[in-house]
Order: sequence, then structure tokens, then C-alpha cells
Amino acid sequence: MTSPNHDMIECPFEADVLDALASARWPDRVGAELSQHVATCQICQDVVAVSAAMQEDNDAALGEWNDANVPSSGQMWWRAEMRARQEAVRDASRPVTVAQGVAAGLTLGLAGAGGWFAWPTVQGFFAGLLPAASSSEPTVFASTMFLPVAVAMLALVVVAPVALYFVLSDN
Ligand SMILES: [Zn+2]
Repeated sequence: MTSPNHDMIECPFEADVLDALASARWPDRVGAELSQHVATCQICQDVVAVSAAMQEDNDAALGEWNDANVPSSGQMWWRAEMRARQEAVRDASRPVTVAQGVAAGLTLGLAGAGGWFAWPTVQGFFAGLLPAASSSEPTVFASTMFLPVAVAMLALVVVAPVALYFVLSDN
């Protein structure tokens, strides 16, 4: 067993004291029991002292914050104005980018649709190219992995020049 004096790091009334401080009931509107306890309890006196110090710090910090921010509202307006101008400049150069994006998207969509409809043909083509397309399992695995990759590569080769054409012709 350790002695109670060494264990007294926290006090059962500490929460009550904090509560009273937080709700601004301290020191005038707390029960006699609590104020009597605090008068005899070092921990609770510390809580009150620390809280009072923090409150002063807060007030001081809040005061500085207000002082610093009132004159800077003009600066904030100026910054917002500059941002609006920068965005206006960016908007002016945007239509080209949008047209390029639409062109690229359309080409990709067309290529995707073309690839979808051409899929059986492509599948048959590559299946015919594969030497051991007859039966065994590893080959089946390899071909199922190979075909989508091959189609993707083919689509890329076809799409890239078309997309480039659209992008360049749009400028
Ligand atoms: Zn206490």
C-alpha cells in the first residue's frame, strides 16, 4: 500500500471544480461543500489557479488576434481580388483545354466502341497467332491474359495518332 499523500495526484472534486469553472459558476455560485473542499485541497486550488491563468492568456490572445485582424481585412479583400483576376485569366485560356479534352474523350470513346465490336475478330486473330492454342491449361491462361493486353496495345496504337490529330486540328 502506498500512502494516500503520494496517490493524491487527482482529486475526486477536480471534475466538479472544472465544471464550475467552465460554466462560470466559480467562485460565487458553487455549493458550500465544494468551496469548503477547495479551501482545504491543494489540487483543486491548483486547478482554479491554472484555469484563471489560462483564462487570462485566452483573453490576451483573443485581444491580439482581434488587433491583428481588423487592419488586415483590407489585405484579405485585396488578396481575394487578385485571386479573382488570376482565375479570370485562367478562364480565358480554358476553352482550348476543354475542346482538347472533349476531342480526346470522344476519340477514346470511339476507340473503345470500335474495340468492343472488333473484339471477336481480334480474339480470333490472336488465337490463331498463338502456336499452342489447342488445349493445355497454361496456354489457356496465357491467352486469356494476353488478349486484353494485346487489344489495349492495339487500341493505344490506333487511338494515339487519332487523338493527336483531333488535338492539333482544334488549335
Ligand atoms: Zn480537491
